[in-house]
Amino acid sequence: MKYYILFGPPGAGKGTHAGAIAQKYNLKHISTGELLRAEIAAGTELGKQAKTLIDAGSLVPDSVVEGMIENAFDTAKGVEGFLLDGFPRNLSQAQDLDKILEKRGEGVTAVVGLMIDDAMIFERIRGRAVIEGRADDASDEVIANRIKTYHSQTEPLIEYYKKAGKYWEVCVNGGTIEENRARVLAKIETIA
Ligand code: ADP
Repeated sequence: MKYYILFGPPGAGKGTHAGAIAQKYNLKHISTGELLRAEIAAGTELGKQAKTLIDAGSLVPDSVVEGMIENAFDTAKGVEGFLLDGFPRNLSQAQDLDKILEKRGEGVTAVVGLMIDDAMIFERIRGRAVIEGRADDASDEVIANRIKTYHSQTEPLIEYYKKAGKYWEVCVNGGTIEENRARVLAKIETIA
């Protein structure tokens, strides 16, 4: 099985491009953010606990997202691999993912980072707020906190995966969605 990680700051377009990548390589797309929002929408206890953290721009506990990831691995059928979107988001999640995959006799195939600068993150998320109505997109303060969380907890994973020889990067700071999707697909083609 292939295990791809779609990496990058909030608003970089991971969710926007994931579908096309998953379809092209017959991967199951797993977005921890989407799974968490589904729990919130369903009104589960997990969803209620996650909502407070998500709405503040903080991360939910590692055990919660890791449980979701393992469950998604266990229940997938008919795919050639997985496209992880929004996971891992800190060093301990990355280390735990390595352990989870090791148990399965597998490992991370490649990490594809979509890079945009902080000003563009604001611009993209403010635009998305109007269309998608996500509570965590609605305030500048929460967006700023997510950017802070990204730089302090998530960005260090670039070094982690570079050291493992598994990191590729695409600049998506300008350009249309179509142009960026083409860039991302072309980059993955060089790996696969
Ligand atoms: P974005 O790409 O805009 O940050 P996501 O849908 O990936 O949006 O994530 C939304 C929120 O869900 C995050 O800000 C965080 O609170 C929570 N979340 C998603 N994935 C994780 C994860 N791997 N670990 C902890 N929290 C997560």
